[in-house]
Amino acid sequence: MKKYSKLILILIVSLSVVMFTGASQSKDSDEMNKFVNDLMSKMTLEEKVGQMTQITLEVVTKEGDNRDPKKPLTLDSGKLHEAIVNYKVGSIINTGGAANTVEAWHDIITTIQDVATKETDIGIPILYGIDAIHGANYTLGATLFPQNFAMAATRNRELVKESAAITSYEIRASGIPWNFNPVLGLGREPYWPRFWETFGEDPYLASELAIEYVNGIQGDDVSAPTKAAACVKHYLGDSVPKNGRDRTPAFIPEGYLRDFILPPYAAGVKAGALTVMVNSGENNGIPSHSDHYLLTEILKGELDFKGFIVSDWEDIKRLHTRDRVAETPKEAVRMAVMAGLDMSMVPYDYSFATLLLELVNEGQVPISRIDDAVKRILEVKYKLGLFTNPYPNNDLIKGFASEEFKKVNLTAAQEAVTLLKNNNSILPLSKEKKILVTGPTANKMMVLNGGWTITWQGNIEELYPVEKNTLLESVINKVGNENVVYVEGTTINEEVNIDKAVKAAENCDVIFASLGEDPYCESPGNINDLTLDEAQLKLVTELAKTGKPIVLILFEGRPRVINKIVDKVDAVIMGYLPGMEGADATADIIFGDVNPSGKLPFSYPKTPAGFTTYDYKPLEKYDVNDYDPQWTFGYGLSYTTFAYSDLSVIEQAGIDDEIDVAVTVQNTGKVGGKETVELYITDLYGSVSRPDQQLKGFEKIYLEPGELKVVNFKVTPEHLAFHNRENKKVVEPGEFKVRVGSLIKSFTLN
Ligand code: BGC
Repeated sequence: MKKYSKLILILIVSLSVVMFTGASQSKDSDEMNKFVNDLMSKMTLEEKVGQMTQITLEVVTKEGDNRDPKKPLTLDSGKLHEAIVNYKVGSIINTGGAANTVEAWHDIITTIQDVATKETDIGIPILYGIDAIHGANYTLGATLFPQNFAMAATRNRELVKESAAITSYEIRASGIPWNFNPVLGLGREPYWPRFWETFGEDPYLASELAIEYVNGIQGDDVSAPTKAAACVKHYLGDSVPKNGRDRTPAFIPEGYLRDFILPPYAAGVKAGALTVMVNSGENNGIPSHSDHYLLTEILKGELDFKGFIVSDWEDIKRLHTRDRVAETPKEAVRMAVMAGLDMSMVPYDYSFATLLLELVNEGQVPISRIDDAVKRILEVKYKLGLFTNPYPNNDLIKGFASEEFKKVNLTAAQEAVTLLKNNNSILPLSKEKKILVTGPTANKMMVLNGGWTITWQGNIEELYPVEKNTLLESVINKVGNENVVYVEGTTINEEVNIDKAVKAAENCDVIFASLGEDPYCESPGNINDLTLDEAQLKLVTELAKTGKPIVLILFEGRPRVINKIVDKVDAVIMGYLPGMEGADATADIIFGDVNPSGKLPFSYPKTPAGFTTYDYKPLEKYDVNDYDPQWTFGYGLSYTTFAYSDLSVIEQAGIDDEIDVAVTVQNTGKVGGKETVELYITDLYGSVSRPDQQLKGFEKIYLEPGELKVVNFKVTPEHLAFHNRENKKVVEPGEFKVRVGSLIKSFTLN
């Protein structure tokens, strides 16, 4: 009898699996509602808390947590059964220590989905998630783009969108439909080791690029085979820790939160991001994972976020073990779920599911909260088309890492690399010169890519593809082996053979000193001094004594202070972390095959303390205070010159008006070039102190020599709004300044 009823159950289950996979998924939300509600009506409480549970791949592999960066993990069928059938987990993430081939990912995802859809009673597919931060970085051979801060330097919306679309293609080619990107914290704290994951210091720039990134990943129809779910993170305050270290407390007053920190997240949510990841740290003394105000009131309430909220790594447990706001692990689970969290990145065990089950049974967490979370999770799975087909698509493999993708990647790097100094137009350099290439970032791939590359820390050079070029290789490709001498000079922090470099310089026409940082990711990237390492500064100081011209090239994840050597060099190129094609792009710029057009997305500090962003408050440039960075936000030179004229703006406007601004830009130099035209607004008087200026528009245009274009902007009430003393969003009448280039006009808002 028992056997008989099990058979019926299996039949019903297989029937429902056939029904899930057979039914063509309409995007109509009524149909989705019906589908999800029907499904939920059949789910047990265990299945529901299982959906809210996320584990890491290591939990279901033979090797367990014994991660070898060179050896991909292999699935353990017993452990997989335990996770998916017994504990009914809804999501698995990550790669363990090592990247996989596309084919290996196919095997992994197929096996996982087989278990989820064929061996469980309910048959719900697994949502697999990965950190594809600058491309599908855990799939071998993927197209790996400049990191986000470099993408922001391109000021090219289309490139950000395209790079995200290629990323979604390549993770989907691996069978993975969920990407834990973009990071939408602002890069306003250069010590923060995740600075390079941001779109820079400005909320408008980050918001605009957030929209492009989310649209690129998710497209118009996220169920399409090449689209994936975005995850905006780490909500909220990750990037402005008071002490500059990863996962440490932030203190963000309400007005600042709403005018600066929140807007990029709001933009990402408005663009339709399906998931949000919570900040590992705390804000104003409240660990974000327990912050009902941030998660439920603002995110799900005010911003009307309809997707689901996932925790960051182990962070619910840490409410008890680290933050000590929960006296027991169980209380930590209760706090997080009641704060609004929908899915726990546990990720090493099943404690979350077990404790949550107890909490519901004891009446400490209402079933309505569980149902809300599960509905959100199932809706994301539905929108992704996983109920129709949860399996990898073999057809996508042939387009993976295509030549076409590589071209977009090269263009992105070419538009990111930023020329910061060019005395006597030493650049572009003739290809006839004899060059000394030196410095710790001159002959490595990992320094071009940074963290989240092949491995978490990105710091295993031998794993990088040999067919990609280091800066040295790219330079040799431009000018020939016979014209290049290479001497390492220093490692990142130790002298190797500075004397030899100096000696070699004597027989060369010009020196390329390639400095910067080794890769890092998250807390291992914390530093105590923003100043570039002494050994590297010494290398340039000694080389400068030869009197030979020096081109300084920087590959670094945050602006390391270099003021001691800036005057000793003739040119400075900010390479950021430009990705796999970054060295070729840099060489293209050095030798003039490409005209640079990158603009700094942050203020480059001159000193290791006392940072001020470009949108400083009046007090920050008053009396002894100053905004005096090495290079300002938006700075970046070109090999041509652009003249701005005819800035026009209406003189009087109503408080609700949209205000048209136009400016004429002409290429007055001898070569074609791209220029980012930026619009800044200053609100002269406000009920709270107002920023000196704020970016409220940017357009990147191309101009042939002599060509001119009129660029139009629209200033909307939203651009002028801010939070007043009562924390109310207002637009206040009065005088405003508009600046484009060095042209300034005023208008009065009545
Ligand atoms: C990071 C997240 C990442 C997660 C999963 C965490 O340590 O903070 O950004 O998405 O790990 O790998």
